[in-house]
Amino acid sequence: MERYLRFLEKSRRYVWNPFTQMKDFFDQEPVIVERGEGVWLEDVRGRRYYDGVSSLWLNVHGHRVPELDRAIAYQLGKIAHCTMLGQLNVPAVELAERLVEISPPGLNKVFYSDSGAEAVEIAIKMAYQFWQHMGHPEKRKFITMTGAYHGDTLGAVSVGAIDLYHRAYGALLFETVRVPYPYCYRCPLNQEPKTCGFACLHLLSQALEAHGGETAALIVEPEMQGAAGMIAMPDGFLREVRDLCTRWDVLMIADEVAVGFGRTGKMFACEHTGVSPDFLTCGKGLTGGYLPVAATLTTDRVYEAFLGEPWEEKTFYHGHSYTGNPLGCAAALANLDLFDETQLVDRVQKNEAYLRKRLQKLIDHPHVGDIRIKGMMVGIELVADRATKEPFPARRLMGAAVCRKARDEGMIIRPLGDVVVFMPPLATPEGDLEAMTDILIRAVEEGAVS
Ligand SMILES: *Cc1c(COP(=O)(O)O)cnc(C)c1O
Repeated sequence: MERYLRFLEKSRRYVWNPFTQMKDFFDQEPVIVERGEGVWLEDVRGRRYYDGVSSLWLNVHGHRVPELDRAIAYQLGKIAHCTMLGQLNVPAVELAERLVEISPPGLNKVFYSDSGAEAVEIAIKMAYQFWQHMGHPEKRKFITMTGAYHGDTLGAVSVGAIDLYHRAYGALLFETVRVPYPYCYRCPLNQEPKTCGFACLHLLSQALEAHGGETAALIVEPEMQGAAGMIAMPDGFLREVRDLCTRWDVLMIADEVAVGFGRTGKMFACEHTGVSPDFLTCGKGLTGGYLPVAATLTTDRVYEAFLGEPWEEKTFYHGHSYTGNPLGCAAALANLDLFDETQLVDRVQKNEAYLRKRLQKLIDHPHVGDIRIKGMMVGIELVADRATKEPFPARRLMGAAVCRKARDEGMIIRPLGDVVVFMPPLATPEGDLEAMTDILIRAVEEGAVS
């Protein structure tokens, strides 16, 4: 305990946390992690918690996975880092080949970066510059969807559409054309998903009719919008989006940072509808949740538009100090090997079925409005009134209250407003998944009260 207090005091003095209101943060007994093991986190007090959000949607095989640890140690015995500006390194080359092999057809080139936000920045800049090289500099707009989250850097915030993250930076951002994401529980057009015939797609059609000729790209979170509150796309919707983009020659950016690497029960979420985007951004699970490597995959068409003599100014001027980090790429390769060896994507589908069955238990809870599940991505939307879908007053911090309950019971989860998010590591063993689901159900039952 003494040790905990010492770290807490130091944190209070020196640390500013991401996406965290610091005013009373240190009074809420923050967990200070010392180590991890499998699906467990252990804090400096020796308390153990289930990692119920995969350390913010990243973790795949658990913590301290011998195969991943060994791959990194082996690479460390060779070199930790060297630049990719004008040169290459072995794991980055190997990983690029693997990513092209496992991603949707047509994505043949890999551009590395350090975070999901940067992978999105790269897709935005490439799409924008692509049309200049193609002789269509007028194609410079971006279409995005309500509730979109694509990262926290300025370009990524510009194509984002969550006002909470947007508002403060308004004048620094470029404008976008916004169309609705199919949030069926709160349909913006007041339709029913069974009968609507994707009515909201009509608004995308209209936007393309009005702006298609001057639009560089559309960006979308395939199958599940994450930060908006785990909003599940209806089956087949993404295919229609792809077809519309093709019709208007608007490049499609599929942001798979959250949903990629097995999370939805396919290696990439685009596979559910057989979609090949023009750009696929990925990060988070790429290294199994170990190291900050992300990637932007694109087509030969885009790549070739950037080829030219140096003085033609077609070069893609982007790259960071740690781009293509060999340790991270080595971890990613070992991560992908383990996907194969453990047939993890199939297991995710089985776990989805299990989660659907177990969470039925919450379906009649007076404050559970909607339960959304894709693979091992779960969002439980809490409401004050099920009949009217009226939300709780924001000041009740209901999502946070439920997550606090879960923590008291030994599992770390983090809400998105009043959506309780449950995203365990993909390789969570059966018994642990059962125990984690028990805690989740109890936390909602006991925490969500009027
Ligand atoms: C998390 C996330 C990002 C940003 O990734 P970072 O690694 O946090 O920069 C981008 N897009 C989506 C869909 C995400 O969920």
